[in-house]
Amino acid sequence: MKNINEYKFWFVVGSQHLYGDETLRQVDAHSRAIVDGLNAARQLPCPIEWRPVVKTPDEITSLMRLANADESCAGVIAWMHTFSPSKMWIAGLSILNKPYCHLHTQFNRSIPDKEIDMDFMNLNQSAHGDREHGFIGARMRIPRKVIVGYWDDAPTRAQLGSWMRSAIGALVSRSLRVMRFGDNMRQVAVTEGDKVEAQMRLGWQVNTWPVGDLVKVMQSVTDADVDEQTAIYAKRYAVDTPHIDAVRYQAAEEIAIRRMLEAEGCSAFTNTFEDLHGMEQLPGLATQDLMAEGIGYGGEGDWKTAAMVRIVKAMTEGLSGGTSFMEDYTYDLKAGEELSLGAHMLEVCPTIAEGRPRIQVHALGIGDRNPPARLVFEGHPGSATAASLVDMGGRFRLIVQEVEAVKPIYEMPNLPVARVMWKGLPSFIEGTKCWILAGGAHHTVFSYDATYEMLADWAEIIGIECVRIGAGTSAESFKRDLFLADLAWKLR
Ligand code: MN
Repeated sequence: MKNINEYKFWFVVGSQHLYGDETLRQVDAHSRAIVDGLNAARQLPCPIEWRPVVKTPDEITSLMRLANADESCAGVIAWMHTFSPSKMWIAGLSILNKPYCHLHTQFNRSIPDKEIDMDFMNLNQSAHGDREHGFIGARMRIPRKVIVGYWDDAPTRAQLGSWMRSAIGALVSRSLRVMRFGDNMRQVAVTEGDKVEAQMRLGWQVNTWPVGDLVKVMQSVTDADVDEQTAIYAKRYAVDTPHIDAVRYQAAEEIAIRRMLEAEGCSAFTNTFEDLHGMEQLPGLATQDLMAEGIGYGGEGDWKTAAMVRIVKAMTEGLSGGTSFMEDYTYDLKAGEELSLGAHMLEVCPTIAEGRPRIQVHALGIGDRNPPARLVFEGHPGSATAASLVDMGGRFRLIVQEVEAVKPIYEMPNLPVARVMWKGLPSFIEGTKCWILAGGAHHTVFSYDATYEMLADWAEIIGIECVRIGAGTSAESFKRDLFLADLAWKLR
């Protein structure tokens, strides 16, 4: 797994030979200053790299070829300081396969009242140069992010940083490998999906390995390995159980799963309680700790959510809110103050915990195995998103609901799993109605760091539908939008 700061973005400035060498020198200098300023503000997830100004169709096309070939280049940010006739961009943009952002800004913040003359106007003409560039993006109907704002303003950088994260998510998606242990839970529909379509569209390689192989790897784990992993648990979490053997069993499971993931280049996995051949416990603590290290996970064979958890974790690396696999479990329906209780039978990621998670061992009502060790904690309050990727048949839809997590209003001392409570926007009734109309699953990626905009930009780059349920959404217009969008996607 690549770290987020191993990526970079190319800053590409378009111009032409019309204005003479002196103007082009200034374009170079100004664009360098913008790149230096953007990097120095330390608000972006990874560096932006300056590229020399492009002035001809050949220069543009060869630059796009290089961007495609450079594995560390996660996207191209284009800006027109002067006027760059955009038919020159057609060949380059049509081969570009990296995420593309059009940053509409200008070098100077203010119009210099006394000094402004025609030379100044010829150099500082982003206002119309970027309109010419915007047209070709629209005409070619290429996925693009348009950001408007002064480059040295924090909100502009925030938007750029958010899009850069989406772009990295797209790159991670295109090379993602998901390991399945066992098949989908019997008879469940929403966690099914077309793995060939997923690979063509989202880039995911989703393949299966026998649980028996995992058990064999577990048998090769030594006591010393387990000692080491158990010591890591004790450092990260509060050990709140006398059943250390159960904890040690989870340690062996974690080590074995990690070894198999690494051997196959996978960064997400799924398993199911219906297929635990030879395993004494359903992985709980093991899965939770792997998720905390950035591994994607989805329960009951849900490879789509496993992949999405990995992608959102990669996108939001370095942010502090946390991201987890989640399941809508049960409600508190006090009129007007309705809350959702999210949890899973074990596997909630401790990156979203308030306070120090506790390792406990309890019996599991489902399945036929020994009581598994797991982390128990409360999720912290704060704004979050719940996202679900569903297969609509021939295409995918990403459903994103904006929610407000609260401190759980009950102690729930007999609930032996991690729990989160939240208020769905725009309201429980309207928001839940929209979710069900859109076909959103019970499994989600729950993230305090990924915003709707970040996820929607990711979906646009990848080329799938994304729908938002949040403040201001009405079920009536949402239903009509779903209907129209379904027609539009069929025409694409
Ligand atoms: Mn589940």
